[in-house]
Amino acid sequence: MPSPSRRAMLGAAIALPALALAHRPATAAAPFRNDLPPAWHRFRIGDFEATIVSDGALPLGDPTQAFLGVGAPEIEGMLRSAFLNPREATLEQNALILNTGRQLILFDTGMGDSMGAASQMFGPTTGRLLRNMRAAGIEPSQIDLVCATHAHCDHIWALVDANGNRNFPNAQVAISEADVRFWTDDANKRGPAFMTAFIDGAKKNLAAYRDRMVMLRDGQEVAPGVTALATPGHTVGHHVFIISSGNQVVVNTGDLAHHQVLLLRRPNLEFSFDTDPKLSARTRARMLDRLATERHAVLSYHFPWPGLGHVAREGEGFAWHPAAMNVTTLG
Ligand SMILES: [Zn+2]
Repeated sequence: MPSPSRRAMLGAAIALPALALAHRPATAAAPFRNDLPPAWHRFRIGDFEATIVSDGALPLGDPTQAFLGVGAPEIEGMLRSAFLNPREATLEQNALILNTGRQLILFDTGMGDSMGAASQMFGPTTGRLLRNMRAAGIEPSQIDLVCATHAHCDHIWALVDANGNRNFPNAQVAISEADVRFWTDDANKRGPAFMTAFIDGAKKNLAAYRDRMVMLRDGQEVAPGVTALATPGHTVGHHVFIISSGNQVVVNTGDLAHHQVLLLRRPNLEFSFDTDPKLSARTRARMLDRLATERHAVLSYHFPWPGLGHVAREGEGFAWHPAAMNVTTLG
């Protein structure tokens, strides 16, 4: 049996390799990769195949400047209680590509790079839709129809490239006439600073599709199983799309709500990019109530990737319940 001093020595000997490890230079055996897989997700809606493709994250900046109607402490408190950064709101951009078996339909295009420096007004992480679409096995030339929820930069500025050529050479564009009129009218270049860029961008992107536009009407079936519904406020002609096949329904809500916590818990808050914030809030509250009542699945353009889930009533407002994702089936 070892003496106490021998035991102490053994202990020291055992401890030594660990100490030696701890003092190795901080160089990893394998370098960090610092990359991510392409962002797309595929699932079924009845007989349709759906692919959600990301245009990348869209950092909004200080949430107390973007979401208005209550004091900064309340905004920050809601974000903190949801384990989100109270100083920085980051939105996602989840664009849906729907294969109905007859048509390939893209809903909203992301920011793209058609407008030079303005295309990066939200930083370098946007503009990835075409790349992610190709990674998902879909070529832009295969798109038959682009349905735009509205004419803002993060929804239609990838209709064309920097030279003004169509990124979707074989596609028609379905969008509301109200939005086309509003966002191509130089007389609306007033108010917030972003209005000039928004109008110039809409003019450039929509011009290339002038002879192949479908003007959306409230309640119109734009394709079998795809119905547009007028939801004005965020823009004058904002529409959502109800997608229905078999016994499944997914409502593609576009920019009905930009934040899964702030605008669901408090649907009456205003969003700084709303054309008519009061109407937007009324539309949001009405539609969220309907989505919660009818228990439809929701695809939200700006909610956390990939934006799929359900809306339920909670307290004075609503709660977002993200869908459970399965990585090995298309279910
Ligand atoms: Zn948006």
